[in-house]
Amino acid sequence: MVYCQGCPWRCGYCHNPHLLPSEAVGGIAWSEVLEFLRRRRGLLDAVVFSGGEPTAQPGLARAMRAVKALGYRIGLHSAGAYPRRFAEVLPLVDWVGFDAKAPFDATYERITGVRASGAAALASARSLLASGVDCEFRTTWHAGFLSLAELERLTGTLADLGVRRYALQEFRASGGVGFRPEAATVTADLDALQRRFPQFSLRRA
Ligand code: SF4
Repeated sequence: MVYCQGCPWRCGYCHNPHLLPSEAVGGIAWSEVLEFLRRRRGLLDAVVFSGGEPTAQPGLARAMRAVKALGYRIGLHSAGAYPRRFAEVLPLVDWVGFDAKAPFDATYERITGVRASGAAALASARSLLASGVDCEFRTTWHAGFLSLAELERLTGTLADLGVRRYALQEFRASGGVGFRPEAATVTADLDALQRRFPQFSLRRA
């Protein structure tokens, strides 16, 4: 896993708040990462670019090409904050874990703190589904930041868009704001949710 520095959004439940600023001290030089991957050839299969938001990196496509040239498969964790760069790297990627946070309207802004974030995420989600790249959509849930009605709306939209694999993840209070842990227990109608997607999983906290 390669953790990329920087994310333009500010979700209150972010588990990696130290990765949010675009600059930070103590990172590992990209040349060192490549050298490590050169040494591990044949021992590791894939490299997942995570974050932060990896598509915040102007050099993401170049970095992925370099990793691919070493024979690795490429994974990407993204919330789709930069639709253009997201679409640009899709042809290089073997698998995407897409973080779908809320219905793609003003609800998104309430979670990310950033205007029009829902439109950006929706554009990225559409290009991912159109690309045919293997993917999982996932949502982190806690009653304190997403109501069951909003979850219902989001999953309905994702099913309509053609999402086939979906995971609902209960919020784990290991970072960000201290939400009440008991309110992270998903109380939604799981059978109804499951019927929406050919593959559905619930990840308990
Ligand atoms: S999009 Fe992801 S990395 Fe960025 S603030 Fe939200 S949870 Fe954190």
